[in-house]
Amino acid sequence: MKIYDYLIIGGGVCGCNVAYELHKHTSNILLIDKLDDVAKGASGAAGAFLSPLLGKPNNFKDLVTTSLPYAVNFYKQNTPNFIDNCGTIRIPKDDTDEDKFQSYIPFIDFPFEKKEAGYFFPIGSVVDSYGICKTLTQEIEKKLNYEVISIEYDGINWIINNEITTKNLILTTGANTKLIVEKYIDIRAIWGQRIDIETSTCISVNYHKECSVSKSTPLNTTTNKLSIGATHHRFVEERELSEEDTNELLKKASDIVNLKDVKVVTMHGGARASSSDYFPIVGEVIDSSKTIEEFPYLKNGTNVNPSRFTRYKNIFILNGVGGRGFVIAPYLAKRLVENIVNNEPLEESITSDRLFKRWVKNEKNRS
Ligand SMILES: Cc1cc2nc3c(=O)[nH]c(=O)nc-3n(C[C@H](O)[C@H](O)[C@H](O)COP(=O)(O)OP(=O)(O)OC[C@H]3O[C@@H](n4cnc5c(N)ncnc54)[C@H](O)[C@@H]3O)c2cc1C
Repeated sequence: MKIYDYLIIGGGVCGCNVAYELHKHTSNILLIDKLDDVAKGASGAAGAFLSPLLGKPNNFKDLVTTSLPYAVNFYKQNTPNFIDNCGTIRIPKDDTDEDKFQSYIPFIDFPFEKKEAGYFFPIGSVVDSYGICKTLTQEIEKKLNYEVISIEYDGINWIINNEITTKNLILTTGANTKLIVEKYIDIRAIWGQRIDIETSTCISVNYHKECSVSKSTPLNTTTNKLSIGATHHRFVEERELSEEDTNELLKKASDIVNLKDVKVVTMHGGARASSSDYFPIVGEVIDSSKTIEEFPYLKNGTNVNPSRFTRYKNIFILNGVGGRGFVIAPYLAKRLVENIVNNEPLEESITSDRLFKRWVKNEKNRS
């Protein structure tokens, strides 16, 4: 019987980056997805734009600031045909937004200059989500069109659907978190739609205002193709692709660029997976029942060193990357694999520990 070193469930940008990083240590990896190819979930719906987060200093902004140059360099090095580092012009929505931008200037972490009606950030990029995921996993064994219904630990290995055995299990299932029933892992789905259009208008950079418009690619001498993204519908795991969303995107895009001879060619939809505090969830997963059984006084607010929490054996997660998966997944996948293979620590702000602690505290308030 074959036993994999690592089995990854979910072939989106998170799963593909984790597979790529793990492959540096072993080739005995299986990547599973219920869909017929990689990048068919949220990852296939993404624009996928890479751009700085503006604002006053906070931990999430720091994470994006670290991840963005890492991602741009990573894609340029490993998937050079699928990134266009053409820069992005960010246009304030109105006077209030312009004032906000001015107040953020002391905290902007990347070079920029005034251009057209906004501010040009040379680091801004757009990637081809399918090309990236396909290239990163070209040497990885895959099992597609295969839905994982059950995962069971036999004391040594994890058994998937009673038929595939692995020493370690990585869950990168995006908005679907049914495989681990842990209330503190409170992933919320935020549905979004992006459209690809043909237009006679040619654009040489990305734009972002109320939506993002990508640099165009020429199809012939008169027609160009570009992407417009994205809409947001909170807490919706699945939703039909809609004309209403398409019209909203076209309206917002035409407020940015004068798009001529527009023909909508494709619509793509998917559910972004966000945690309750919008931070990602990386690393081991705490077994809440066993931890509370061992430390019942946690519910009274007593502090317990997290190193004593009971964790599922050999099971790891990378999820909750929200609307910036293409920006933060390469960096987080590297951190996760360093954690798994070399025991490198992960800061609490990105592990499930913070969510568990918060959840236990709320349980106390409820009881
Ligand atoms: C419209 C839209 C626009 C976006 N634009 C951007 C953008 O411009 N820039 C950016 O950085 N991010 C963007 N995002 C966000 C980005 O797409 C996500 O952050 C990222 O794709 C999440 O990747 P993931 O691997 O976690 O999830 P997914 O890509 O959803 O991958 C999860 C995979 O797990 C599989 N799976 C789940 N359960 C099972 C199971 N039980 N068995 C087998 N397979 C299973 C699913 O089929 C799926 O393929 C956008 C998202 C949307 C929806």
